[in-house]
Amino acid sequence: MLPLPHLLAELVRRPSVNPMGRTDLPADILYEHRVTAFLEDQLRGLGCDVRRQPVAPNRDNLVATYTPPGPAPLAVMFECHQDTVPVDAMVVEPFGAKVEGGKLYGRGACDVKAGAAVMLTAFARLVREKPAGGAAVTLAYTVDEEHSFLGVQELMRSGVRTDYAVVAEPTLLNIVNAHKGVVRWVLETPGRACHSSRPEDGVNAIYRMARVIGELEAYAGQLRALPPDPVLGPRTLSVGRVTGGVSPNTVPDVCRIDIDRRLLPGETADAGLADLKAFLAGRPGLDFPFTLSQAHPACPPLPSDRSGELVARLGAAIDSVVGRHTVHPVPFGTDASTVAEAGVPAVVFGPGDIAQAHTKDEWVDLSQLDPAAEILFRFAAGK
Ligand SMILES: [Zn+2]
Repeated sequence: MLPLPHLLAELVRRPSVNPMGRTDLPADILYEHRVTAFLEDQLRGLGCDVRRQPVAPNRDNLVATYTPPGPAPLAVMFECHQDTVPVDAMVVEPFGAKVEGGKLYGRGACDVKAGAAVMLTAFARLVREKPAGGAAVTLAYTVDEEHSFLGVQELMRSGVRTDYAVVAEPTLLNIVNAHKGVVRWVLETPGRACHSSRPEDGVNAIYRMARVIGELEAYAGQLRALPPDPVLGPRTLSVGRVTGGVSPNTVPDVCRIDIDRRLLPGETADAGLADLKAFLAGRPGLDFPFTLSQAHPACPPLPSDRSGELVARLGAAIDSVVGRHTVHPVPFGTDASTVAEAGVPAVVFGPGDIAQAHTKDEWVDLSQLDPAAEILFRFAAGK
């Protein structure tokens, strides 16, 4: 197995950009397959059981298993996504993996190829050393975390079940045990197109949408005023994108908005949608048809109430290596909640700082890689 910084550089040099619904990105950087092939090679080199789970064209999950000699007291999963966000406007070479001042730069360096390299290194050491009394370990590399969570949904649908799961995201070697869920909805108002010199002959879909958006702003205020989660804060709703119209001299026949709704533990995407539909149905100004639907699978909320034992065990491993840790919630969604929803207690842990994720000069502090791998090894080995 390559030393950790080299392993990370190999991963960063292989683009695995998630198009996130866009169609304007070059094909030679899209999808996870280059990273998948590299990781598969590394895992096959260890001689362990590796299989692919096809999720979409050029997008396979990778699942490797390590079974210790003798009875395993525990089964754990290390889970990490392979995809990155796009590279527009980056000011460092996105796939250059340049190292300077103890940092490695590039798209995915922090989110989450550092975590991918660390999990592979810890897993390889378990396979090599076969520590007595160690856990059985499933190492899963999933696709499409940055957009619609298809990979982790397929992983859990395939029946992978362990006692605990650690999901890689940058946490500065701390434990994240809770986050909100996220669901995206699309709302479309229809109109009737005509020449803009006689707008009275048509129906302006953008004017209709303007009224919808006003109501959504009011609804977002109502959500925010509901009792918040003591740790995660309030429910939120935000309109993030408006698309509609073809030219200034055409009355638009359709307008579309993308809505982002953050869910608290106990809420579901379906119930949230039903609540919004009921609200809009009761607004007298919206006397025209429109459609409202979920755009793609939701990321459920991650509640903290089932991961206490896992937090204690992982926390002990962290303390034994770096001396301290925090346990805290985050505002963003991760694969951990889909794992937890399937009944496997899950937390988020990894090297790097989320402040550097998705940035124009994304980097990770290389000094966190070795401690992170040591922590995961001790966690699984029961040391
Ligand atoms: Zn990530």
